[in-house]
Amino acid sequence: MEPRFNGKTVLITGAGSGLGRAVALQVAKEGAKLSLVDVNKESLEESKQLIHTDVPEADIILITADVSKEEDVQAYVKKTVDTYNEINAFFNNAGVEGKQNLTESYGSDEFRKVVDINLNGVFYGMKYVLEVMKKQGAGTVVNTASVGGIRGVGNQSGYAASKHGVVGLTKNSGIEYGQYGVSIKAIAPGAILTKMVEGSLRQIGGDDWEATGKEFVSVNPMKRFGQPEEVGYLVAFLLSDQAEFINACVIPIDGGQSYKY
Ligand code: NAD
Repeated sequence: MEPRFNGKTVLITGAGSGLGRAVALQVAKEGAKLSLVDVNKESLEESKQLIHTDVPEADIILITADVSKEEDVQAYVKKTVDTYNEINAFFNNAGVEGKQNLTESYGSDEFRKVVDINLNGVFYGMKYVLEVMKKQGAGTVVNTASVGGIRGVGNQSGYAASKHGVVGLTKNSGIEYGQYGVSIKAIAPGAILTKMVEGSLRQIGGDDWEATGKEFVSVNPMKRFGQPEEVGYLVAFLLSDQAEFINACVIPIDGGQSYKY
């Protein structure tokens, strides 16, 4: 297969871990020039090293930024354009799970924090990247929603509100920007084994989190967690020109769990 990202610039937030890192590695293997963004500088350096081990010639810039701060987002978009002149594809992915609790005990500060990162951060990213892509007359955005953005999961007020919001933004903006050659879609991952999911299982099961994990996936039709690499394959396709006609919609990657009664 022809490398799908030769000469293309791919911008990824939350690139220091989990899904962001897996997607960065996959598109780097297919020739992408990378702009990697994360709030955690050390984990970004780790991602860069890991990618260079596999793809020594990969062009990579690292940008430390907090996606919940609009000025940081404006700056990471500017730095990417200043470096590479264009943004062909954007994986708008950084997010946090937040604490698990009943709605009445969830906490207003926690709610605001989770929405600030997961929803406002995605909005700011779209605001500045879409301006660039509209001028280019081409581009692809993949937003990271969640099964928690299309179904009720429970004990996740802030997460559910933010991820349902990401789905709404995706549908709305996809309708607006199709005419400019820009497609916008979201993914809805189920339980993919990353640091975030480990943290979530630790909230429920403490040190016994692996046993909690086994019980958790016993109700999944595939009886297992998804792996970050599997999300890497999906998102690389969605970010590529091959997926241009997939627009304003949400693609689940969850072993079928969100369709189960
Ligand atoms: P992860 O914790 O492994 O990675 C998330 C990355 O985002 C981290 O490197 C973190 O430092 C970064 N980040 C957090 N807050 C940030 C901020 N304010 N600014 C910039 N970077 C920030 O988690 P993951 O599982 O890879 O999650 C990635 C995305 O996928 C999130 O949006 C998450 O909600 C979503 N998601 C994950 C799963 C799953 O099962 N892993 C399921 C559904 C959705």
